[in-house]
Amino acid sequence: MKPLVPLRHGEVGMYNCGPTVYDRQHIGNLYSYLVADVVRRTFEYFGLRVKQVMNITDVGHIVDDADAGVDKMAVGAERAGKTPLQIADEYTRLFMEDRHRLNILDPHVIPKATDHIPEMIALIERLIAKGNAYVAADGVYFDVTTFPGYGTRLNAELPEQRVAGARVEVNENKRHPSDFALWRRAKAGDLQQWDSPWGRGNPGWHIECSAMSMKYLGETFDLHSGGEDHLFPHHECEIAQSEAATGKPFVNYWVHVRFLRVDSEKMAKSKGGFVTLDDVAGWGYDPLAFRLLALGAGYRNGLDFTRDGMNAAQSRLERWRRTIRAAYAATQGRVAEPEGEHVITREFREALADDLNSPRALAAAEKALALAAIVDTDEQERALWMLFDMDRVLGLSLQAAAAAKDELSSEERAVFEQREAARKSGDYAKSDALRKELLERFGIQVKDTKDGTRWERVGRKGA
Ligand code: AMP
Ligand code: ZN
Repeated sequence: MKPLVPLRHGEVGMYNCGPTVYDRQHIGNLYSYLVADVVRRTFEYFGLRVKQVMNITDVGHIVDDADAGVDKMAVGAERAGKTPLQIADEYTRLFMEDRHRLNILDPHVIPKATDHIPEMIALIERLIAKGNAYVAADGVYFDVTTFPGYGTRLNAELPEQRVAGARVEVNENKRHPSDFALWRRAKAGDLQQWDSPWGRGNPGWHIECSAMSMKYLGETFDLHSGGEDHLFPHHECEIAQSEAATGKPFVNYWVHVRFLRVDSEKMAKSKGGFVTLDDVAGWGYDPLAFRLLALGAGYRNGLDFTRDGMNAAQSRLERWRRTIRAAYAATQGRVAEPEGEHVITREFREALADDLNSPRALAAAEKALALAAIVDTDEQERALWMLFDMDRVLGLSLQAAAAAKDELSSEERAVFEQREAARKSGDYAKSDALRKELLERFGIQVKDTKDGTRWERVGRKGA
């Protein structure tokens, strides 16, 4: 692990490759933004100012990531019978909503590719002038032989990831098979096209990220992130074209998020069936339980999404909320900053500083929760302060949970409602059995009063 030393004192510039807005983002995509959010929050927690930029890819991302084929935006537009602009707006809105449900902070700048065509053209012109790019019959290509080390710069990021031997389409317009498109001449029927010195056409996907990141963060900036699939070709191409154009290092620090897998299978949009955050919520989970699940996995390991894992994360979140709520009631809403750095806070900080070890950071939070559960208001006040402090990084809305009214979880509510139904239909044997189940499984005591059924948490025996 290489510690990050910001280029400017006290300030970090970070760029996240944003979504291609031709479809819903799945929970794998969201997971990669969640990791970026934890990175940003961690810098801020350590007192750095962050400028976060995330682009919206609304043109140029060709299906398959290779140069041949159709633009994903055209695929999405055709499927929906709408214009690329309409579907870009719609999926950007849904994506931002999903981010908000996961408490992912808004980047400071969210540039759209289609608003930055002049910047891309200027960058391509620079590359042509320097001899790194050439004009061909069907567009402009980057000449990879002019950039020593092309395709190998990020090998160290994930040593086991092979970037060599990627499939390349044969295209007789290219000088070398690995050259990649910076600009594509419009083909008949192209829905998105702009004027350029090389005729009407549209930009390559890689040049977008170079143009937008350097516009908002400068020619050299601190940190760039994306999913592991972006290692090659996307990020290698970004490095080659940016450094060739400026003669300066492009990015100091790369974060590549290992993939989320659903039941051990790689999840890809192209495969059809993929899981969205709406699916997760529809199965009765709190979106923040997904955030907690993600925090429980290190970003270098990837995330295994399973129903068992989600069940455990949901119960864990509810347990946290219950403990915090009870402690907050006991201290009557008071919190107290411990004198000096508490050992638990130190553990939390050390875990984050250790290459963002979020599982260990959660273990520190569990220690604070154990303190919050001790019947001693001084301890509880300190524990709450530490938990709210940690939540600046964890983003689990723990303060809101502390002040919230106690509510039944979806699972508890299901049993509670079954019991209500049994009682109303006069099936007292069943209603008694379900009352017992509520007590034994969830520690919930129900009482039938003349004003209806009341419930309170009394705790499970032996729990
Ligand atoms: P896209 O919209 O396809 O450009 O992807 C948006 C982001 O999600 C990129 O940073 C991808 O690398 C990332 N991504 C795609 N699939 C996954 C996955 N299964 N797990 C984690 N990140 C992913
Ligand atoms: Zn990108």
